[in-house]
Amino acid sequence: LICRYNSTLVAVEEPITPPVSVKHTQLLINGQFVDAASGKTFPTLDPRTGEVIAHVAEGDVEDVNRAVSAARKAFDEGPWPRMTAYERSRIILRFADLLEQHTDEIAALETWDNGKPYEQAANTEIPMTVRLFRYYAGWADKIHGLTVPADGPYHVQTLHEPIGVAGQIIPWNFPMLMFSWKVGPALACGNTVVIKTAEQTPLSAVYAAKLFHEAGLPDGVLNVVSGFGPTAGAALASHMEVDKNLNLKGFWFPKKLLNSSCGNSCDSDITAQGCLQGSLRAVVPLAFTGSTDTGKIVLELASKSNLKPVTLELGGKSAFIVCEDADVDQAVELSHSAVFFNQGQCCCAGSRTFVHEHVYNEFVEKARARAMNRSVGDPFKVGIEQGPQVDSDQFEKILRCIRSGVESGAILETGGDRFGSNGYYIQPTVFSNVQDDMSIAKEEIFGPVQSILKFKDLDEVIKRANNSRYGLAAGIFTHNLDTANTLSRALKVGTVWINCYDVFDAAVPFGGYKMSGNGREKGIYSLNNYLQVKAVVTALKNPSWL
Ligand code: NAD
Repeated sequence: LICRYNSTLVAVEEPITPPVSVKHTQLLINGQFVDAASGKTFPTLDPRTGEVIAHVAEGDVEDVNRAVSAARKAFDEGPWPRMTAYERSRIILRFADLLEQHTDEIAALETWDNGKPYEQAANTEIPMTVRLFRYYAGWADKIHGLTVPADGPYHVQTLHEPIGVAGQIIPWNFPMLMFSWKVGPALACGNTVVIKTAEQTPLSAVYAAKLFHEAGLPDGVLNVVSGFGPTAGAALASHMEVDKNLNLKGFWFPKKLLNSSCGNSCDSDITAQGCLQGSLRAVVPLAFTGSTDTGKIVLELASKSNLKPVTLELGGKSAFIVCEDADVDQAVELSHSAVFFNQGQCCCAGSRTFVHEHVYNEFVEKARARAMNRSVGDPFKVGIEQGPQVDSDQFEKILRCIRSGVESGAILETGGDRFGSNGYYIQPTVFSNVQDDMSIAKEEIFGPVQSILKFKDLDEVIKRANNSRYGLAAGIFTHNLDTANTLSRALKVGTVWINCYDVFDAAVPFGGYKMSGNGREKGIYSLNNYLQVKAVVTALKNPSWL
């Protein structure tokens, strides 16, 4: 095996001083910055060096409880769900304007915390975040029910109502974009929110939430809790609020659910009497984005608590299919960015590159050359395509995956090792001769690693592309309309990109088949996650005119 990475092409310099200072490191609850109840903090690290950027409040169960109470009060008593939809829309629009004005600062926080190239954050992620909020601001005053014909003397209408307190848990790969996908539709529908940020990247969301309050968001409507998954995240996923004012005597509940809500020990399934003097007021719905393994835990926590509806946006192992008729140069460029964008840390990364046998050799040669030319370095430097991975855990995991690719017999065309000696940089890595049963073809690597697989015909590639526990996205590169139509209908995935990749329009739904999750984010589809439908049936007193 020859590693042909040309490490003289690019260099990791002394870290550039970020053009921003960290202003907010506390939790934002009920419109106020507060320390964690425990007083604890955790360090957030610079992936370029592993050095501490700032110490951030470490939220836990008590903080989640405080945040949920604030959100519940804001929903039950506050102006947010009661103001006109037009007023809500205007506040969201004002926030989008403020976000846009602070693009440089927020992009710099993203780069510092996450390691992504500053130019990409400033020119792509933050503008997409702004656009997303404007898109949902546009929806706020267009949400309405229907008039439904009935078999009788009734007037039937449906009301589309906000659900209540939305619990949201986001990952670190696109901190601001994930914040917008969750918060935008939830607030547009009139819900209130408690969002837990990823422990690797807590800085930008809390900054943005402060701007939201400057835009006129009432206190308690958006609460941001930083902290770890098994503590703060689990507390949100399993949260069950009990409104003490209502009496549930006589209602049926499984004993497990009762015990987890009140802490008592019921031995019967049926008795709510005396045990649960209140109504179950759930943190509903729960929206989670993260890995499939954590998604399973979250789903279990949610179902054990109060059957709250859960949307899951999880991992992927997406196929990028280069057909026989492809212009190889264009296919190489597109498949390169489909894998390597954001240091390979994309849920929908096109990480299995299937290439038709007729163009395979040329493709492999050019894909290797393109990866060797990728500019890796300090993400604050102009022209840099790839910064460091987010943290040492991801860095080590990716290197383990690369070793497993080598051990399983894939050909390492380029890369394969860390880049430089400081921070979490990894060489852009390309494997050819990858077989379906190798773990690099099955497991999500979440790093700058391209696996190239050869195929002969469409039926074969359809079967192989679908032979995955994931079903998030796929790319097709062809000019043959019939081929594009066949593949786009046969692939079991939530998004198909034809002659393009990673197009994330605010209006276009995104989500997974199979173990890539359930539910859809963005577009009109996401509104359904945050609304419930009430049917109002009115008897018509004098229907004779019918
Ligand atoms: P992760 O699952 O480790 O963490 C995601 C979030 O869950 C974090 O906020 C974390 O603190 C929290 N968490 C961890 N354990 C928890 C627990 N026991 N209870 C509640 N919350 C918990 O994922 P990650 O490493 O941060 O993100 C990468 C993963 O996210 C990848 O698998 C990627 O594919 C996926 N992702 C999916 C989408 C999508 O739209 N489908 C988008 C972005 C990322």
